[in-house]
Formats: sequence, C-alpha cells, structure tokens
Amino acid sequence: MDDCIFCKIVKGDISTKFEWDNDGIVAFDDIEPIAPVHILIIPKKHIESLKKVKKEDTELLGNIQRIASELAEKKGIKNAFRVLTASGKEAGQSVFHLHYHLIGGWKDKAPEMWTGKNSKADK
Ligand code: 5GP
Ligand code: ZN
Repeated sequence: MDDCIFCKIVKGDISTKFEWDNDGIVAFDDIEPIAPVHILIIPKKHIESLKKVKKEDTELLGNIQRIASELAEKKGIKNAFRVLTASGKEAGQSVFHLHYHLIGGWKDKAPEMWTGKNSKADK
C-alpha cells in the first residue's frame, strides 16, 4: 500500500536496519521504544491487522512467533519477553499494517501488564 509507513520500510523507501529479513517477514527497532529491547516484527505483505488475517496466513503467523523467539535469543532476552499486537484503533493500533511488538530487557521485573484505566473490565 502506497501510504503505509511499514510498506515503505519493507520496500526500502525508508532506510531501516533489519534485525530479520526472511520468510516474508522483517523485523526492526521501534522508533519509540517502550522497553530496553523493542522490536517490531511484520509480514512483508500488507495485512491491516489480525482482523484481516486469512487461513492462508496461518504459516506466516506461526513464523512470526518463531522469529520472535529467535530474536529474543539473539537480543539476550529469551528468559523474559512479551509479544503483543493491537487490532483496531480502540485497542491502541496506530499503524494499520499487522505488526507484533517484541519487548523485553527490563533490569528487574517487567511492568505490570494490565494497569490501564480500563483494566477492570469497565464498560
Ligand atoms: P501500534 O501503536 O500500532 O501498536 O504500534 C505502532 C508502532 O510503530 C509504535 O510503537 C511506533 O513507535 C512505531 N512506529 C511508527 N512509525 C514508525 C517508523 O517510521 N519507524 C519505526 N521503526 N517505528 C515506527
Ligand atoms: Zn503496509
């Protein structure tokens, strides 16, 4: 997609150091890291979000999880890491090209996961 920032990264229009480039998937550092290690793992093909995933994407999705594990090892965070994806604006998605955040590298303990304002199943 022409106006998609992650498609531009995939195409090389925006110079980016890839931590991974194989299996139809690339990974690169997030521009605004929220953890000492914060890598985005994305399919090269444009998929809006998990909402738009099809059965034929199953292998791709499996590979993303395997690559997350391999990158966690490469980055020295294999003992403590998280993999997150947001699907939909209200879920916090801001770039509408499927991506998984691989985060880790905290010194002691990771921040609590579910401490947001709406964390208690508020309506
Ligand atoms: P979301 O909010 O959709 O879950 O995550 C989008 C992520 O993409 C954000 O963490 C944001 O910092 C990152 N991001 C947005 N634009 C760019 C960019 O041009 N380059 C890189 N490396 N990351 C970006
Ligand atoms: Zn895209």
